[in-house]
Amino acid sequence: MIRDTFARPLRNLRLSVTDRCNLRCAYCMPEEEYAWLPRADILTFEEVARLVDVFASLGVEKVRLTGGEPLLRKDLPRLVKMIAAEPRIRDLAITTNGILLAQEAQALRDAGIQRVTVSLDTLKPDRFRALTRRDAYQQVLEGIEAVSGMGWPGLKLDTVVMRGVNDDEIADLIEFARRMGAELRFIEYMDVGGATRWSMDQVVSRADILERLGERYGRIEVIVEESSAPADRFRLPDGLIFGIISSTTAPFCQTCDRSRLTADGQWLLCLYATAGIDLRKYLRDGTSNGELAGLIRSAWEGRRDRGAEERLLLKDRQPLVQIGELKAKPHLEMHTRGG
Ligand code: SAM
Repeated sequence: MIRDTFARPLRNLRLSVTDRCNLRCAYCMPEEEYAWLPRADILTFEEVARLVDVFASLGVEKVRLTGGEPLLRKDLPRLVKMIAAEPRIRDLAITTNGILLAQEAQALRDAGIQRVTVSLDTLKPDRFRALTRRDAYQQVLEGIEAVSGMGWPGLKLDTVVMRGVNDDEIADLIEFARRMGAELRFIEYMDVGGATRWSMDQVVSRADILERLGERYGRIEVIVEESSAPADRFRLPDGLIFGIISSTTAPFCQTCDRSRLTADGQWLLCLYATAGIDLRKYLRDGTSNGELAGLIRSAWEGRRDRGAEERLLLKDRQPLVQIGELKAKPHLEMHTRGG
């Protein structure tokens, strides 16, 4: 197990398998047109699997497939099978918007995905259309119901809470998750790349969320657990468990064991990092696995990133990157680096 300068292990890898998405969520992809990564730069499944093996040799045991929308990557179950064949990866998960999930769920499960997280910000079809600029609410619902109906354990729903947009649905979403047998996690609206319309006054904080749920349900219990998971977990008086990912107002950099690999092989040590390490170049120039492991090890051992905590210290917090710079540097986009 290798550790960075704050003794954080390298345990978790988020793999963005494509930068493409079939939604245009206002908080992530507010533009209609984007500059996509060149096709020739996208890592092949063999290249991704090779990197996963190298990361596993350094201690990575959890992999999450993301994007963009990961289910847009053609033949994804084949990649899942290749990663699942690495015995050191003991947790293989996917984060999806759910649009293509109903048709892919069984193949994903058969291939080795253990846990599914679906992003769902609203239960109102009109609001869904306004927020995502696509008419896909029904498909998302069918995707969630498909996973739930399969009795597939570990289903999570992730909701970005925004003031004046969907903060009136907090309890409704909790009740929906209960019906689906899913654990809901509220995510504070983050000032990441892509969120060019972010402002602090739209953030509904963890404290706010707890207060509102407390008014509705009564005393909420904090679940105390040792974990590097991004969500803090809570229990309602009736026993229902939910989570809050408070990256904006109460970041958890101190326990962050995550790094990210973009679909074209840029390795990022922090969600807020402005530059990554180009692993594609090494994959394609004959560098051996041992040399790759050495490169990754020395980068991790020098890691000092604590991006979300640094953002918290800013007095006048504005969007991380302005739209002009994002267009010139697509690797700064959330949909490129994988949320
Ligand atoms: N397409 C997949 C999905 O929708 O889940 C995976 C990629 S998406 C970028 C991953 C997660 O990032 C989603 O749950 C999304 O809501 C979240 N996200 C994107 N922009 C965000 C922002 N500005 N603040 C908080 N979460 C954000």
